[in-house]
Amino acid sequence: MKNNLNQNTQSFSEKKIDWNIIQSEMKEKFGNDIFESWLKKIDFVDELKNYILISVSTRFIRDWITSRYLDQILQILKSHKKDIQRIEFVINDKKYDATDKNSSIKDDFKTNQNITFIKDSFIQYNRIDPNKNFENFIIGPSNKLAFEASKKASQDIAHYNPLYLYGGVGMGKTHLLNSIGLSLKEKNKVMFISAERFMYQFVKSIKSNEMVKFKDYFRNTDVLLIDDIQFMNGKEAMQEEFFHTFNALLDKGSQIIVSADRAPGKLLRIQERIKSRFSGGLVVDIQKPDYELRNKIIKSKTEELEMFYSNEIKISKEIQEFISTEIKTSIRELLGALNRIFSFARIYNKAPTIAETKIILKDLLNLSENKVTIDLIQTIVCKFFKISKSEMLSSRRSRYLVRPRQTAIYLAKILTSKSLPEIGRSFSNRDHTTVIHSVKTIDRLRKDDNELNINIDSLKNKILYTKEDEI
Ligand code: ADP
Ligand code: MG
Repeated sequence: MKNNLNQNTQSFSEKKIDWNIIQSEMKEKFGNDIFESWLKKIDFVDELKNYILISVSTRFIRDWITSRYLDQILQILKSHKKDIQRIEFVINDKKYDATDKNSSIKDDFKTNQNITFIKDSFIQYNRIDPNKNFENFIIGPSNKLAFEASKKASQDIAHYNPLYLYGGVGMGKTHLLNSIGLSLKEKNKVMFISAERFMYQFVKSIKSNEMVKFKDYFRNTDVLLIDDIQFMNGKEAMQEEFFHTFNALLDKGSQIIVSADRAPGKLLRIQERIKSRFSGGLVVDIQKPDYELRNKIIKSKTEELEMFYSNEIKISKEIQEFISTEIKTSIRELLGALNRIFSFARIYNKAPTIAETKIILKDLLNLSENKVTIDLIQTIVCKFFKISKSEMLSSRRSRYLVRPRQTAIYLAKILTSKSLPEIGRSFSNRDHTTVIHSVKTIDRLRKDDNELNINIDSLKNKILYTKEDEI
């Protein structure tokens, strides 16, 4: 295998990407704030055949950049060199001297066994993430069996063979497969690949007449981890190959671990005999996490992120509990929610309140925003300022009425999705320019009026927490 490693290194006829130029274009495209907070931290590592390799310090930053900016960064790169097709990350969590950065990362990268194979086509995707391990996998009733089976598989090869883990999206399947790979890779040849990638490599190998190499490669492994097997479909020839590889591996006592989003019997477009081999080992499912587990995960991740930000940000227990209560669907979503909270805190230099959390996580929460009506806002604001609704809606401009009215208009703007004219209509047919004026006034006052800020936060909480029937 080693001999092939350099085959893909290319001599470049074109000029290499100049990262300084890319950086200044990113700055222009995303603005200074985003650039300073996220993109400046990216280090350029290398330019390879049709992709570039960059490095950031944590997975969190990588994920954040990937979900928000990567497509546009790729566009910028492509505008300089159309051959660039993707961007790959390396996580570099070591502190290093800025003056020395090129050499240190690059050398590290080149000498690190695990990364050298990025240049090799088969193992290109054989990426084992050191940050997803057994130690940081948190256990609850929903995933305990899967965890124990995975642990066993990593201590006692081929005890359960194959091991088949299944469960919904974002439940920790990949994390477990990765952990198994991580703990076995020192002493064994480990292959960790998604079913999609397996298919892709298969087809590619046929096209380039490299089937022998493909077979050898897969059949030589001691541990084969295949993620998301539900994506393997159709293609008789490929299933044939998979089936034979599978049997050959079982025969020679290699460990096979498979993950899927459903039980073996429910897989579609996969040959019966393969499904039946899957069922022949140990089949374990991961269920949705209960509140206890969600809270444990949130707590541990919060501590980790707080430490990462040198404890400049503190997320209250109340917020942690709120997220753990509200985000029930998956662990991925749970962590995504927490990441948003931290991003908010980084941008505004303070942890969000519950009301703000609801806004930040609006699309993830089941609280329908329709529950917040302008009528509800008016009722709560009137009660707070001890005025009557008819006073609020009147045209009188006494000072004691103007501020509450502006506050209610402001809250209607930020807590509902109503348009300015719609809001105006709900306030005795006021013009939309009056609405704009009120919103601007409160926005301006909030900048230095602490008492007003406290009042508005408490009103927001009341509005978002109160159910219509409680008034
Ligand atoms: P799946 O493969 O089932 O879709 P992942 O393994 O990718 O889910 O998990 C989604 C995210 O949640 C990952 O960041 C993973 O590290 C994290 N995660 C899942 N389960 C746990 C757990 N029990 N403890 C800590 N982190 C977890
Ligand atoms: Mg997965």
